[in-house]
Amino acid sequence: MPSAAVIIPAAGSGTRMGLGHPKQYHLLAGVPILIHTIRAFVTVAAAAIPGSHGIRTSLSVAAAASINRIVVVVPQDFLAETRQLLAEYNLTSTAITVTAGGRRRQDSVLAGIECLAEATELVLVHDGARPLVRPDLIQRCLEGAWQHGAAIAAIPVKDTLKKAHPDHTIAATVDRRDLWQAQTPQAARLSLLRQAYATLEDRDVTDEAALLEQAGIAVTLVEGSETNIKITRPDDLILAEKIMGPPSSPTMRIGHGYDAHRLVAGRNLVLAGVIVPHELGLAGHSDADVVTHALCDAVLGALGAGDIGRHFPDSDQRFKDIYSITLLEQVMQLVADKGLALSNGDITIICQAPKLAPHIDTMRRILSTACRVGIEQINLKATTTEKMGFAGREEGIGCHAVVLLTKKE
Ligand code: MG
Repeated sequence: MPSAAVIIPAAGSGTRMGLGHPKQYHLLAGVPILIHTIRAFVTVAAAAIPGSHGIRTSLSVAAAASINRIVVVVPQDFLAETRQLLAEYNLTSTAITVTAGGRRRQDSVLAGIECLAEATELVLVHDGARPLVRPDLIQRCLEGAWQHGAAIAAIPVKDTLKKAHPDHTIAATVDRRDLWQAQTPQAARLSLLRQAYATLEDRDVTDEAALLEQAGIAVTLVEGSETNIKITRPDDLILAEKIMGPPSSPTMRIGHGYDAHRLVAGRNLVLAGVIVPHELGLAGHSDADVVTHALCDAVLGALGAGDIGRHFPDSDQRFKDIYSITLLEQVMQLVADKGLALSNGDITIICQAPKLAPHIDTMRRILSTACRVGIEQINLKATTTEKMGFAGREEGIGCHAVVLLTKKE
């Protein structure tokens, strides 16, 4: 299994962004660009760091490569700040090294190479300001380098290219058929990269491929990605956020609901869909089922979708005397539409009289059926208030509900 390392040169001053500090520390979707970039490698194949087992990627052409070191090369003045950022974002594995870079990119990459173990076979170099690199592209570069010695990500030039005179008149149209735009990752066997540095003397190169080319080492192009953009100007941040799409919704949502209705003569007492024999019933536009209303509000709260009054206004004649369980069924449809399901609900009815214990299991069955879950997922309990307050004086009944919604498998 070849041992691989990643060097992330991020030692540039990024002056083109026109802001006070280097671009790699600017926020993209609320997180520094450099942190996005490091995470892209940490999450490759979802394995490894933390721990020193390395990140495994399966190489179809050879044994799996294990990325077991990430070297982040930053300006000398930003060493402490970068280490602090890594700690803040929980990137504290010993497999991540932060070191100071040099004036030119090639100096920074060389500083990164000096941090690598002798046993390292493959080196990927990836721009700190290309945060959207995907695992499949990282893998293609590793495979290419393992197979051919050196490989870089590149995309064919799409636009027509013009060569211009100094006065901006066109001198020629350039044939673009063999032209490619270089991206990163750029990957090579460490031995070849060392060999290239040994022959470089003090010439300037713009990327690692140029370094290898000058040393007469063949470099293979692998298919890059249009979305693997380098952030150099403020507009690129907007484009990058578009490419990233909306933030993924959380996998768990919690909600709370509370309701209370007045007890009056001449109405049925409906609680959790059950008509409970009693001389008084609850007043309201619907059946005034305080338990089902509290549960609906908890679910709507978890969805961030307002409350029951907004969805089923009491000014609407369609809801006059309606059996509230049908409202709960509609609320649960909203849950399903969002790809969520009820994980569990816990409900407390505040009621002095009548005694509810004989009805609790029937209520749980009705609620759990409407919620499309097993009965064990709905907990229902009743309490008195020892004759204190409106419930204690039997003027009304109240109910609290708490729910947890989770993403459906
Ligand atoms: Mg109500």
